[in-house]
Amino acid sequence: MHSGLFKNNLNANTRICSASPYFCVLKQQNNILAVTGSDLSVAKEFLIKGELVAIPTETVYGLAGNALNEKAVLSIFEVKNRPAFDPLIIHTDSLKKVAIYVSDVPEKARILAEKLWPGPLTLLLPKKDIVPDLVTSGLDTVAVRIPDHALTRELLAQLSFPLAAPSANPFGYISPTKPAHVEQQLGDRIPYILDGGECEVGIESTIVGFENDETIVYRLGGLDINEIESLIGPVALMPHSTSDPKAPGMLKSHYAPRKPLHLYRRDAITPGDAGTGYLLFDRYLDGVDRRYQRLLSPGHDLKEAAHNLFAYLRELDGLPVSEIKAELVPASGLGLAINDRLQRASVPA
Ligand code: AMP
Ligand code: MG
Repeated sequence: MHSGLFKNNLNANTRICSASPYFCVLKQQNNILAVTGSDLSVAKEFLIKGELVAIPTETVYGLAGNALNEKAVLSIFEVKNRPAFDPLIIHTDSLKKVAIYVSDVPEKARILAEKLWPGPLTLLLPKKDIVPDLVTSGLDTVAVRIPDHALTRELLAQLSFPLAAPSANPFGYISPTKPAHVEQQLGDRIPYILDGGECEVGIESTIVGFENDETIVYRLGGLDINEIESLIGPVALMPHSTSDPKAPGMLKSHYAPRKPLHLYRRDAITPGDAGTGYLLFDRYLDGVDRRYQRLLSPGHDLKEAAHNLFAYLRELDGLPVSEIKAELVPASGLGLAINDRLQRASVPA
């Protein structure tokens, strides 16, 4: 419990204030310092009080708050520095609870929900008034998901409200797939990081909406669209926009490292100068120091590549390099979502 408490957070400037019998909140020069631990009762207590907790999911770590509490939702936008036009996904643990928040579940959505939840699939469904407009950025649909992570599902089962939870990173930066990623970037802004280990899938959920009779994929993600098509037939892909508020979150620039990232087909990657890092699919580049190379999947497995994508991008971003050269992965199945993230990471903000 609270593994990070003393190891990571305690130093000469730190004060300890006891906030309940169960936990301590550490403050440093009036800033919170997050405790990392796997205690559900601590997470639950903060969430009930309207505070934010980072939660593990199979996709990426989420910055969670009570989706029905406008103050909590506002602080999600503040902590992430996320524009208010970019709506949040709400997370819960059962279809029965989903029905509290949505007014209609079209037949195709019901099939996907029954077959693919819990899992990396988000459905856009007409919202009920109980869901604050702040969550949906004023849209009349709400994005809903049942995540596939045992600890977080247990947490959700114990809560009487859904959790709004975008990725637990500053807006626009690489999404977190380990508790340490959250701690590095939001550790001074939230009180607790619920430690559920590394995220299995490693990229965000696939977002699907329904308009008239059409099924639209708003964001490629951790669920292969072939799986969706095998259940409900063909889907249409929504193109990215830079600022269209009807398709928030479809922003062209996202998931970006601080260093400029350039994208190449494998045969077009050439060794750059000494200040270059390389994100490659399955083979090292000859003639380049391997400390500056990361292989997403030596065994050409797109699932493994997705799992490693964000963590390796962060590692490369942290090396003493001035640019990153990245290789496009095979454009099928999960490879489409990986290439989508790489493309958006390569667009300057
Ligand atoms: P994140 O939680 O950071 O993975 O991002 C959630 C994304 O879900 C947003 O950026 C939008 O693209 C999408 N989204 C959420 N709610 C809606 C909605 N009602 N309509 C369209 N897209 C949505
Ligand atoms: Mg995000």
